[in-house]
Amino acid sequence: MRQISFHNGKQLSPGKIIGLGRNYLDHIRELGNAVPERAVIFCKPQSSLLADGGTIILPEFADECHYELELAVLIGKAGKKIIAQHALDYVAGYAVALDLTLRDLQSELKEKGLPWDIAKGFDTSCPLSSFVPADQIADPNNLNLLLKINGEVRQQGNTAQMMRSVEEIIAEISIYFTLEPGDIILTGTPAGVARINSGDLLEGTIEQVGSLKVSVA
Ligand code: MG
Repeated sequence: MRQISFHNGKQLSPGKIIGLGRNYLDHIRELGNAVPERAVIFCKPQSSLLADGGTIILPEFADECHYELELAVLIGKAGKKIIAQHALDYVAGYAVALDLTLRDLQSELKEKGLPWDIAKGFDTSCPLSSFVPADQIADPNNLNLLLKINGEVRQQGNTAQMMRSVEEIIAEISIYFTLEPGDIILTGTPAGVARINSGDLLEGTIEQVGSLKVSVA
């Protein structure tokens, strides 16, 4: 997936993919993590992207791959040290994403104080729907999220539960990295994460934004 698309079929080359960890309190608690003072930020490579309808390939170097349903934010305009009040001016669209995570490998790396990249960035670890233009979303900080696996509800939340709003996330990330058109931000996941297995069908939905369907090989 070298192009990302909008609902109207318009296509765009993806830039960097930036993930935010620990942004929903109930998810922080379920993993026994501390509430971060500084945002927990990581990157996934472009080669991790998987289009809607695609197939997740579980890598052989880990045993436990978890789903994380997240609101994805597409940057449409370059910015550095963006002020939160103006941050939504930099957003081109929103999509449904999964931040797939090799939890056993991530735990091992975290214990050693090592970077998590290989637990977060494997091929197909970033399923992504098409984007809805930003002007069609009245409030990105009040959207219901729902993930079903094999028809059963597994994650349910609202972006109002985020500890950092979309505006605050953009402002904070842009302190560290210049944001550029095509960059994609994953805004964190609510509680309910668990492993996926071969043959599973994942269906993520975000109110007003759309849906994403992928299966596991
Ligand atoms: Mg995540």
